[in-house]
Amino acid sequence: MTSTTVNSRQPILNLQNISYSYHTLEGEVKALKDISFQVYSGEFISIVGPSGCGKTTLLNLLAGIYRAEKGNIQLQGQNLYEMKNREEIFPVGYMLQQDHLFEFRTIWENVILGLEIHHKMEEERISNVISLLKRYHLYEFKDKKPSQLSGGMRQRVALIRTLALNPEILLLDEPFSALDYQTRLEVSADIAKIIKENNKTAILVTHNLSEAIGLSQRIFVLSKRPAEVKKELKINLTLPEDESLGYRNAPEFNHYFNELWEDLKDDH
Ligand code: ADP
Ligand code: MG
Repeated sequence: MTSTTVNSRQPILNLQNISYSYHTLEGEVKALKDISFQVYSGEFISIVGPSGCGKTTLLNLLAGIYRAEKGNIQLQGQNLYEMKNREEIFPVGYMLQQDHLFEFRTIWENVILGLEIHHKMEEERISNVISLLKRYHLYEFKDKKPSQLSGGMRQRVALIRTLALNPEILLLDEPFSALDYQTRLEVSADIAKIIKENNKTAILVTHNLSEAIGLSQRIFVLSKRPAEVKKELKINLTLPEDESLGYRNAPEFNHYFNELWEDLKDDH
């Protein structure tokens, strides 16, 4: 095998035997236990698991906010904890349930916030933000305040703000849970499409099994706390590419849903 073929299969993210505990006055809370998995560039991965099992903890480790107490995290083959200037070489985007848009700033001032903070107001980045706003029908709202936009539009603004820093990986922590059912269907499909069109790798934490099946190529099921990877489920729906909303009609859908349901039921 040549080195190029090796590299093309090199995961963008490689977790090896990750463990993590919180230390509180009441004692130790084991959150993650021996978690290992790989993610490849361009994949959309979902993580499901019981409430409080350690999903947010896992994303915080991937974002470099917490440090694993055991095990290793590699980003494109480099050890996360040995990387200098990691923010520069390997920016990670984080999206949460709340869109965290600032009401005292316009939409435009919100989307360029990250660029401002990181002193990256370069022409190329600015024009990238403008073209993202235009492409996703938000440019005409650039002088509005967040409260003047719908929940779905605000989530798209939040995503564009995250994309402005050109992250390699997007971490999404239940970003759609504050939206009502109908909006959630549309916005989740929309966000997944934007992520795909911009060739990003995404890791989504969600409680919504249908959403996980509809958006992902692979789903990791975590056990109850301390979370271990209980199962990896590969998703293959027979649907045309752009049928992101019709995934429930795929013949395989019910099978995947029931399998996930059974896995999670055991842990309640
Ligand atoms: P999830 O996102 O899967 O709901 P979390 O990763 O937020 O779960 O939390 C996993 C476990 O760790 C929970 O039992 C939670 O109570 C505990 N935990 C989370 N954050 C802290 C903290 N800062 N200090 C102590 N325990 C925490
Ligand atoms: Mg959480």
